[in-house]
Amino acid sequence: MKTFYYNSCRDCRKKLNDGYCEKCENEKEPKAAYNFNMKVSDGTESMWVHVFNNQGEELLGMTAEDMKSVTDYKARFNALIYKVNIINEV
Ligand SMILES: [Zn+2]
Repeated sequence: MKTFYYNSCRDCRKKLNDGYCEKCENEKEPKAAYNFNMKVSDGTESMWVHVFNNQGEELLGMTAEDMKSVTDYKARFNALIYKVNIINEV
């Protein structure tokens, strides 16, 4: 199943491997971090942009951890694409 986030280490943001952080060399509590691709279009051309955690928080106005409990999260992402289209409209 595709998701919009990954389980990151609370301390260093590295992706956890079954709850284990290889960078911290320790078991860590997972924290959801945004990690998804967004199609950005200017009406004639479009491209895929990779969104990381900080940009995702800024764009969506909430943390990935909070977004996990949003049942209609797909609508939030659709609204995001709409917002980007408006910004690019001339
Ligand atoms: Zn770590």
